[in-house]
Amino acid sequence: MILPPPPEERVPQGRKHLSADALLELLRRRFEKIPDHRGRKCPISLADALMSAFAMFFLKDPSLLAFEERRNDENLRNLFRIAHVPSDTQMREILDPVEPRQLRPLFDAVFRQLQRGKALEPFVFHQGCYLLSLDGTGYFSSSSIHCDSCLEKVNKQTGEITYQHQMLAAVLMHPDCREVVPLAPEPIEKQDGSEKNDCERNAAKRLLRQIRREHPHLKLIVVEDGLASNAPHIRELQNQNMRFILGAKPGDHPFLFDQVLAAFEADRVTTICWTEGEVLCEISFLNGVPLNESNQDLLVNWLQYGEYGPNGEERKWTWVTDLEISRQNARWLVRGGRCRWKIENETFNTLKNQGYHFEHNYGHGEKNLSVVFAMLMMLAFLVDQVQQLCCPLFQAVWKKEGSKRALWESLRSHFRHFTFQSMRHLQQVMLYDLAKNIPAPTLDTR
Ligand SMILES: [Zn+2]
Repeated sequence: MILPPPPEERVPQGRKHLSADALLELLRRRFEKIPDHRGRKCPISLADALMSAFAMFFLKDPSLLAFEERRNDENLRNLFRIAHVPSDTQMREILDPVEPRQLRPLFDAVFRQLQRGKALEPFVFHQGCYLLSLDGTGYFSSSSIHCDSCLEKVNKQTGEITYQHQMLAAVLMHPDCREVVPLAPEPIEKQDGSEKNDCERNAAKRLLRQIRREHPHLKLIVVEDGLASNAPHIRELQNQNMRFILGAKPGDHPFLFDQVLAAFEADRVTTICWTEGEVLCEISFLNGVPLNESNQDLLVNWLQYGEYGPNGEERKWTWVTDLEISRQNARWLVRGGRCRWKIENETFNTLKNQGYHFEHNYGHGEKNLSVVFAMLMMLAFLVDQVQQLCCPLFQAVWKKEGSKRALWESLRSHFRHFTFQSMRHLQQVMLYDLAKNIPAPTLDTR
């Protein structure tokens, strides 16, 4: 049954081209541009199969089978413009050969809409630059199921092979924004023609180059953990015209920390202290130190933040950066370095624990299926983040439902029981509880 929408003047208004309906339409058009690897006209188009998988992640269905139960649901046509919904087997077969890189332009398309709507302005962090955090995460591990793109880990003692999938995510973030904006992730996988397992460093190199190709003028400060603070990687960042704030551990950088110690003794390190409650906070910094002994020409700026509790508790973070540190910006740069946790908390943990089923196996395939699914799930997460950031109607529904899990549950339940003309219609019905206004049927009591 079709429920009437509430009067328009009651509905929170937002930027139209950033609404769920506009974004779904945009994605649909982009999916249609991906060439069909089957090269002939098939009853179920590639765009339909891709949009169906996207809809499954958008609705947070727990399995392909759960999604398949929706095959005759009119809402899939009305809201996602899917003409023919594939069965679970068909979906796996059609999507397995899709090259994951063909999905990159979809992330880009959503990003352009954000730029167009000036929605990224709150993300500007320092000197017109955005913070871009990079981090890898695993989402699949098995001793039996595997495909061509699985990473293989061999147990040295038993010889047993573990098959894994990992991806390197890149998300735009800001210390004061709860939302994050994921760019297209890079699969960490075995590369064609190479038997050696790919590693996060190689994936980072590919990813940074792709980001630069896709966004030649985007001003970026890349934030990464201690693994990244090595000379080849820093030179790669410089080649891509990206600035950086990278974790740095004393154990990895004895030469650098010796230089800093000498500078402390010579009174050349600047220190800023303040207290927060009983905790003493302290920032120390030193500009223009060689990164290590063999790369003395590579100068970095050293930044450290420490918290010291009344009972001797101590926590310390250290970074190297190419941003000139001053008394004025040191605290702000520390916040930039520290907000790297957002990629773990706001991205991976949300995907793993807030209804997205990131580590669930929707089907592995023989070639790319597992990676294609992971990328489409990240794309659904991006659309959700855009709505959370820019769509007052979504924000109102989220607030009403109280949590993301409750929100997805209510979304699925409405989707299943009623027919809607648009996502906006659905969200309005959720917000104003319009489903509760259905008149009771007249019971035949004869
Ligand atoms: Zn695999």
